[in-house]
Amino acid sequence: MINAKRLASTFVELVKIDSVSRHEAAIAKLLTERLTTLGLSVACDDAAKKLNSQANNLVAKLPGDDQALPLAFCAHMDTVEPGNSVKPVFENGIFKSDGSTILGADDKSAIAILLEVLETIRENDIPHCPLEIVFTVCEEVGLLGAKNLNFDLVKAPFGYALDTTDVNSLVVRAPSANRIQFTVIGKEAHAGMAPERGINAILLAGKALAEIKTGRIDSETTCNIGLISGGVATNIVPNRVVIQGEARSLNEDKLEKVTAGMVAAFENAISQAQNKSDRNDGLPRLEISVEKDFTLIDIDVNHPVALLAQKAAANLGRSLAFKTGGGGSDANVFCQHGIVMGILGTGMEDVHSVNESVSLENMVKAAQLVLEIIRLHTKETQGKK
Ligand SMILES: [Zn+2]
Repeated sequence: MINAKRLASTFVELVKIDSVSRHEAAIAKLLTERLTTLGLSVACDDAAKKLNSQANNLVAKLPGDDQALPLAFCAHMDTVEPGNSVKPVFENGIFKSDGSTILGADDKSAIAILLEVLETIRENDIPHCPLEIVFTVCEEVGLLGAKNLNFDLVKAPFGYALDTTDVNSLVVRAPSANRIQFTVIGKEAHAGMAPERGINAILLAGKALAEIKTGRIDSETTCNIGLISGGVATNIVPNRVVIQGEARSLNEDKLEKVTAGMVAAFENAISQAQNKSDRNDGLPRLEISVEKDFTLIDIDVNHPVALLAQKAAANLGRSLAFKTGGGGSDANVFCQHGIVMGILGTGMEDVHSVNESVSLENMVKAAQLVLEIIRLHTKETQGKK
């Protein structure tokens, strides 16, 4: 029933539209038109103003059998860079870019799949539950669209984000993450004429960093220092350095422990330097900011969202594995708002690189699974509302 040719041409049309984060106006306009033609009502929220983005999140609804529970699907409209003027190439069943840009299969393969499923439902008059399709902006710059989504627009108790690789798996666990920033404030001085008057902020930060364990901390937890900026010139003792890092874990307690360890390393390095100093200007000084970036996905494998996907795959003669993801996605934010959201694959590979690709066969498989999920859910929840 899924029309591979139509799916391919929708995908090509979508990837040719520039939509790097905060520049989603053209794709949002096209999707609003397509969804309206397919019989959906399209609402948008006011995320654009808050995010200084060109477009709002879209929440499109297709009325259906109101005896069945509504089901949500989510994908993001924005891409990473270099994402402008994508020239898709189709060879041996695989879509790639011409090598100068990303392809944008992340996440336009998902959008194309959802549009194809809606086309198929309409074309074949397939009975379906009420459907809620959420297309977000600014996912790639910190899940900002989802974080600013008006969740009052979403009524479904659970659903699926399409935003990972494997078409035969459902991500049911993904980490919680903290974003951490340290600012070490020292004292500037001429490095040749009066170095003893200075306090070297870079060296102090270095001492703290040497005490922090990074990389894979254990099977559930990771930690990274990713950015450092400070200093003005080689002949000036630097008075300020900013260090940014993150910690992630599938276990909130471990996340807090790793975060606390990072904070303690900086506090110790600075207080040791303060103790050694006979200055009375309060230097060196430390500023710390710890922000929750996103919260856990931790879905019980007996939750309907997991069982439904597994049964739907079985109906198609396929087996579906439950997986743990390492990243954050819009689904984390939905889960935080009480909408249980697993993550399905679309076939996209090597995302965030100019080698990004997706096979048409896998996109068709993903579309078949989504369609079967809708069909099965409609049958199973009829009268349960
Ligand atoms: Zn994505």
